[in-house]
Amino acid sequence: MKRLLLTAAILSVGITTAMAQTVSPTPELYSQKTLDDLVRVQKAATEGTHAFDFARYMSATIGPRISGSNEAAFAVQYVAGEMRKLGLDVKLQKVMVPHWVRGVETAELTEWHGMPPGSKRNVVVTALGHSVATPASGVTADVVVVNDFAELDRLGRKNIEGKIVLFNYKFDMGLQAAGFGLAAYGQSVAYRTNGASAAAKYGAIASIVRSAGGSQSRLAHTGLMRYQDGIAKIPSGAVTYEDAETIAYLAKLGPVKMHLTLTPQTLPPVESYNVIADLKGSEKPNEYVIVSGHLDSWDLAQGAIDDAAGVAAAYSVPAILKDLGLRPRRTIRFIAWMDEEQGGSGSEAYYAEEKGNIANHFAAIEADLGASHPIGFKFAGKPELQRYFGPLVKVLTPQGATLAQYQAGGVGSDIGPLTRDGVPSFAPFFNEETYFKYHHNAADTFDKIDRREIGEVSSVVAVLAYGLANLEQPLPR
Ligand SMILES: [Zn+2]
Repeated sequence: MKRLLLTAAILSVGITTAMAQTVSPTPELYSQKTLDDLVRVQKAATEGTHAFDFARYMSATIGPRISGSNEAAFAVQYVAGEMRKLGLDVKLQKVMVPHWVRGVETAELTEWHGMPPGSKRNVVVTALGHSVATPASGVTADVVVVNDFAELDRLGRKNIEGKIVLFNYKFDMGLQAAGFGLAAYGQSVAYRTNGASAAAKYGAIASIVRSAGGSQSRLAHTGLMRYQDGIAKIPSGAVTYEDAETIAYLAKLGPVKMHLTLTPQTLPPVESYNVIADLKGSEKPNEYVIVSGHLDSWDLAQGAIDDAAGVAAAYSVPAILKDLGLRPRRTIRFIAWMDEEQGGSGSEAYYAEEKGNIANHFAAIEADLGASHPIGFKFAGKPELQRYFGPLVKVLTPQGATLAQYQAGGVGSDIGPLTRDGVPSFAPFFNEETYFKYHHNAADTFDKIDRREIGEVSSVVAVLAYGLANLEQPLPR
């Protein structure tokens, strides 16, 4: 025992001496002053209410902010006004956005095997964004249930022509329960996006999808769909998990007939804006760290978790820094993106204007996966970025946000073009067990946001933003 200890002591001395001779001192990432200030930022964010109050106004007071709407236009002015109150340089960047307006949306089963005579069965349905309308009196046809595109192709025109196709692709509840809601969404969303044209190719008169979300409270999940060029445009909606299950069961027993009415309208595009606001850096004002979320939302609820929460977390960064009297060395650029949900024209407009200036975009952060307890952050870009984050993770440890997770590809749709051009990119990292229960459905309301949890999201964004803005070195890219 004694001898062992003695050997260890000698070894340790030997290593220390060798290191002193061959390894240069570790370069500093963050100054002690920055680290001390980050602790104050973390505390202010988790204990404060900037993000919570802002998200409440955006969702409960203003309400849904679908592209082209009066509410979206109001929100642009509100956000710009709040930024001016903080003393930031505000710019409204013009964006032309689609203007799609929901109409009547009803569905009922009128015939099925074993039905009580004269009975009708209500089906909960919602139109998908950019869908065309049925006639005002609706359409009535047999429903063909397919589980995936391969089954649609096997059935072919002889089984599909003149019918309503139900894509019964199942959102993976097991993945959601394990915390991977986004992966489940990624698998099922193709049917929402492409189902109508796939069905129309075989002569279907309408397309409905099983909701591409994880609600089991009979809530239909809306979202964007796209028509393929050269194929007839047919009305397209989503039915709930529960109604899809019922229709699929009844269709196994015999023919099922549905009466479907969807009357959305596509109006001329509308001029709208990204809201951009700079908190000028004290030493490198021409280098930018973006903090962002998307201002537009879907229209069925209040767009609270998608994405008032993200804009609110971004807003909280300059608000907290102002409270603490802190000024970043690089510029922190707030962006409330317009039109993330209906095609990303806001992201495109920003990239078009800045594509010659990508080298000055030091880092980009986007928050667009809700407001639950973050377990850390994800980053995209070079994997070797990892070694720059240790001190930031330490600051976030008291709130349990300890994971710095590399994500190949990207971490946010609006900052996607910047990520692709090499800008180190970041997003809060969540367990996605609850997000897709409310995403794009009628339950995305402010009550889903917890004050402490959105404070933790605000903290992740603020610690990342202030830390990166004050980093003593360039990031690898
Ligand atoms: Zn979103």
